[in-house]
Amino acid sequence: MFNFKIVSQSKTGKARAGILQTPHGEVQTPIFMPVGTLGSVKSLSPEELVNAGVQIILGNTYHLYLRPGCDVIKRFSGLHGFMHWDKPILTDSGGFQVFSLAKLTQIKEEGAEFQTHLDGSTHLLTPEKAIDIQVSLNSDIMMCLDQCIAYPSSYHDAKDALELTTRWSKRCKQTWEENADKNSGLFGIVQGGMFKELREISAEALMDLGFSGYAVGGLSVGEPKELLFEIADFTLDTLTDAAPKYVMGVGTPEDLVSLVEMGADMFDCVMPTRNARNGQVFTRNGTINISNAQFKDDSNPIDQDCGCYTCRYFSRAYLRHLYLSKELLAYRLNSIHNIWHYMEITRRVREAICDGTFEAFKKYFLNKTV
Ligand SMILES: [Zn+2]
Repeated sequence: MFNFKIVSQSKTGKARAGILQTPHGEVQTPIFMPVGTLGSVKSLSPEELVNAGVQIILGNTYHLYLRPGCDVIKRFSGLHGFMHWDKPILTDSGGFQVFSLAKLTQIKEEGAEFQTHLDGSTHLLTPEKAIDIQVSLNSDIMMCLDQCIAYPSSYHDAKDALELTTRWSKRCKQTWEENADKNSGLFGIVQGGMFKELREISAEALMDLGFSGYAVGGLSVGEPKELLFEIADFTLDTLTDAAPKYVMGVGTPEDLVSLVEMGADMFDCVMPTRNARNGQVFTRNGTINISNAQFKDDSNPIDQDCGCYTCRYFSRAYLRHLYLSKELLAYRLNSIHNIWHYMEITRRVREAICDGTFEAFKKYFLNKTV
């Protein structure tokens, strides 16, 4: 049965450590969820994810619905069987990709009509369909369809989008109640643009409907970092402490630590894997670009203190060579390291919360890496 329990809380701040119970096992929060867009976290096997400490991954409904399609995945009893991942999976609703990738043709009360980025065919993503697709993926945590808006947006547009999101969320919940495994979770997504008043209205409307957890959507869409933090902090405060709080699509390791301090429990971002494929790797002292000439004959690992497979066996010089030669192993080794780095940070954050030392950890971490 889906359940969230807080096991430790910062004495002086809002950071908390919890346990999420899902149909495919427990997740210890705060947690980072690597993004498995097309049924794989790019270049990594499920075993490599487990070795890095990954507990839950995110699957993209929009992509999987288009390719390979729900019928194929259903034959494997869902995404877990299809991709050989037996731990929890959170699926998004497809809404964000419809707004960002597809050619959006029309937002209607009924749903979002779009032309796919693959073949231009026209589809209508309704709240009911968004849930039914996630049910066929056998997702552990499903997300309601929301209307994403661009930054900047007018108050009027943000208000319309949040009101539509609320009506869609109600329909999502009804479909979830009718069709989904009741042990799964369903999260509502708070919208409202960069307007606090609207964020509050959205959060309250969703809490009235009642969801297993709540996400802060519509951030990391081009707004300044200070504004992202201001809106996230405000929105997280409006949400009930009894449910998991998920900040979508964010961010750098430093962002994660700052958002944990504001009470966030869950995160996802393509940054560790996308940056890895662009040769950018994270270290405890900031990021480095592995293609830089200074690493030409550097026999050190990416990060001396990292325990990942890449750092145990491979030098910066070798990784630079692989990357510049466009060897496939470069993407895999860089991704192994970056995912390990993110998971290591969430492990340390959780430990610090449980030890009552989160504030000191945060100060140390942000001073060290900025
Ligand atoms: Zn490493």
